[in-house]
Amino acid sequence: AKAAGRSTFRLYDPAMDAAVAERHGLELDLRLGLERGEFALHYQPIVTAAERRVVCREALVRWHHPTRGLVPPASFIPLAEETGLIDRLGAWILRRACRDAAAWPDGTRVAVNVSAAQVRHGPLIAAVQGALRESGLRPDRLEIEITESLPIEGEAADLLMALRRLGVRIALDDFGTGYSSLSYLRRFPFDTIKIDRSFIADIADPGTAAIVRAVVGIGAQLGATITAEGIETEDQLAAAQREGCTEVQGYLFGKPVPLEA
Ligand code: C2E
Ligand code: CA
Ligand code: CA
Ligand code: CA
Repeated sequence: AKAAGRSTFRLYDPAMDAAVAERHGLELDLRLGLERGEFALHYQPIVTAAERRVVCREALVRWHHPTRGLVPPASFIPLAEETGLIDRLGAWILRRACRDAAAWPDGTRVAVNVSAAQVRHGPLIAAVQGALRESGLRPDRLEIEITESLPIEGEAADLLMALRRLGVRIALDDFGTGYSSLSYLRRFPFDTIKIDRSFIADIADPGTAAIVRAVVGIGAQLGATITAEGIETEDQLAAAQREGCTEVQGYLFGKPVPLEA
């Protein structure tokens, strides 16, 4: 570190010390939180664009921290990934989501987000199989959402294929935000493509609408369901429907809420 010269001063930056301590504290809390059962799932409906009939609910994890309050996933999922705690947290999420969905009288699907880290080195297959067996949920009622941050090659591709052979559906989340969205579609037969909400926010723009229309066309050719994410207004719904999206999700139809609500 000495050889790094001036930059070593950063090692003694009190703000940096504070950040490291904060991170360490959060990691310890994460472990404790898992043991104490501080995590909960909220559910957001996904509805048909035409009749607004609920066909699926996406599980979104929340952390009820004793002093920090309600911590959003963006503040702890990355740390859970880096520390490997995502495997335990992810297994809990799968178990809870499948158990919850098995009790839904309407037979709708449940969508569960899975990190690239879980697919890369986690015991994901065993967790999915365990959750399905334990809950008795029909495999085709479970949809696993992955993002383009996962390179689909080698083991990851084998694992996704193995999941699909279990009868589980695979969705590509946040479509259009990665660097190689189209080649991604070529590598794996996704059941659902979720168009990122940044496109929906901008769908009044004719160029953006044209891109959405093209994605819908490609998705249809591939036999995938196209879901538009982040619909907040009637105008956005009308546009998404006009461009051919079959399923829609967003605050217009409901925010993520605890199951009781
Ligand atoms: P995501 O999978 O893309 O989830 C959608 C996010 O957009 C959610 O934020 C949701 O509350 C929000 N959202 C839904 N509709 C609207 C809308 O109409 N307008 C706006 N502005 N936002 C909307 P949330 O719950 O904070 O989750 C953020 C991200 O954290 C998720 O993005 C996902 O990547 C990750 N995440 C959440 N739950 C889990 C989980 O159980 N496991 C893993 N691995 N990641 C999760
Ligand atoms: Ca998602
Ligand atoms: Ca998304
Ligand atoms: Ca996202």
